[in-house]
Amino acid sequence: MDADVVIIGSGMGGATLAAALAPTGRRILILERGEHLRPSAKDRDVAAIFRDGAFRPNEVWLDGSDRLFNPGNYYNVGGNSKFYGAALIRYRDADFGPVAHLGGTTPGWPIGYPELEADYQTAEALYQVRGNAADDPTEPHHSGSYPLPPVPDEPDMADLRKRLSQAGLNPSSIPLGVDLSAWLSGGQTTWDAYPNTGRGKLDAETSGLAMALRHDNVTLRAGCPVETINVDQTGRVSGVRLSQGETIASPLIVVAAGAVQTAALLLRSANEKYPAGIANRSDQVGRNFMNHNCSAVLALHPFRKNRSVYQKTLMLNDFYLATNDRAPLGNVQMLGKITGEILAAHSGLPHWLAKQVAARSFDFYAMSEDLPNPESRVSLCNGQIKLDWRRSNWAAHTRLVKTLKSKLRQAGFPVVVSRPFDRRTPSHQCGTARMGDDPAQCVVDSHCRSHDHRNLFIVDASVLPTSAAVNPALTIAALALRAGRHIAATELAD
Ligand SMILES: Cc1cc2nc3c(=O)[nH]c(=O)nc-3n(C[C@H](O)[C@H](O)[C@H](O)COP(=O)(O)OP(=O)(O)OC[C@H]3O[C@@H](n4cnc5c(N)ncnc54)[C@H](O)[C@@H]3O)c2cc1C
Repeated sequence: MDADVVIIGSGMGGATLAAALAPTGRRILILERGEHLRPSAKDRDVAAIFRDGAFRPNEVWLDGSDRLFNPGNYYNVGGNSKFYGAALIRYRDADFGPVAHLGGTTPGWPIGYPELEADYQTAEALYQVRGNAADDPTEPHHSGSYPLPPVPDEPDMADLRKRLSQAGLNPSSIPLGVDLSAWLSGGQTTWDAYPNTGRGKLDAETSGLAMALRHDNVTLRAGCPVETINVDQTGRVSGVRLSQGETIASPLIVVAAGAVQTAALLLRSANEKYPAGIANRSDQVGRNFMNHNCSAVLALHPFRKNRSVYQKTLMLNDFYLATNDRAPLGNVQMLGKITGEILAAHSGLPHWLAKQVAARSFDFYAMSEDLPNPESRVSLCNGQIKLDWRRSNWAAHTRLVKTLKSKLRQAGFPVVVSRPFDRRTPSHQCGTARMGDDPAQCVVDSHCRSHDHRNLFIVDASVLPTSAAVNPALTIAALALRAGRHIAATELAD
């Protein structure tokens, strides 16, 4: 055997799992499709990133109408977390049960929040999350405190926080995996959607993978796309074949390629015995694709400037949980600061006007839950990835945006405009290999083990049964730690 465990993908799921398994001393091989992101002149170049798409992959997928598009899905060591906004937020307690939304009722998880709490705590320690658990009334029970205090508000954000409180809202600090001084030493920009080529963001590479690679028994091979997973006659997975043709044998395989690519890999691995793809007896692989419903909401006062550099320090969960007279609407958090260049590239406004607007705007990110729907799916069309995302629960999102706009006017911003995020960026993709107890309905069990192949695990965003309305990375990391403990105890114990 070439390795005791092969992990496919070094993003949030794969890297965190590697950190969890490293102390077992077993030979762990991480196969990553992409290369290391190296420092470059484009790292903080707004025009290169947001206008020219300098870091976007050279790849196209089909959409639901069979039109080609270039997805904002990143392939490099550390996966999408290299570009993330580093908001590391726990799902709320209620998110694990069935929840009645305007667009339908979610299925609920096979585990409750208490079963994941300790892993959330460990994940927050690994990713050095800065936050304050007492800040937000919707924050679920924490058995310990955040490792570090929140990232401080800039002066104009402190003023915004006061205005929001005066308007009757409960602004709280976003839990963040950011080392502020390290980030700002690389340039005076925000971090959201910028590549992390230094140590400013605590991401899958700088935290999970770095921890794993301290152990001699862990090896990373970058630039190694896995083409298929091999299954033997008994139904056990036996190894992987790389795009370059090489075969690697291993008694334990973990897929952590991200929700779209994990589904594509499982489907592509179809053979005579498993014509619909492996791990797919339930026919759920690729289905239930979710990606939050999101809008940018810009609030301005013509005579007040927003001089913030990074801005992304506060969030609102006032509309998150159901109340007696209202269904859940979602989370609101600050975007990284929008600049004139970003606004001009995305709105078509002339540059001079975009600059004036961006100098005054406070930029919010309104995010509502997308519900699982088997028809919302990733499939392969002659080997080409097709992403037919069927948005759901849109009424909740429009209500969230409307409610937020009215509150922002109340908080002293006469001009409030909004725009939905475009569909080509599946930043919060999840659900395509969902977790659940019933093998007829779900792909993996509550420890991320395939119902069909006992030595195959899936440890990334694909297993999330619901998208909630908070950013997914911390939950992916917590699930990876839980899966890691289970794998160590059941598969790697002497
Ligand atoms: C701009 C942006 C901002 C975001 N902000 C936040 C945020 O603030 N908070 C948050 O929680 N989340 C955020 N996210 C989402 C977060 O980054 C993802 O949820 C998370 O990284 C998903 O982890 P994953 O392990 O499922 O997949 P990924 O991180 O995508 O990792 C998958 C890895 O597998 C590799 N891979 C794919 N196919 C193969 C193959 N065939 N063979 C080998 N390797 C393969 C990929 O190259 C990649 O490295 C953001 C995402 C983006 C793009």
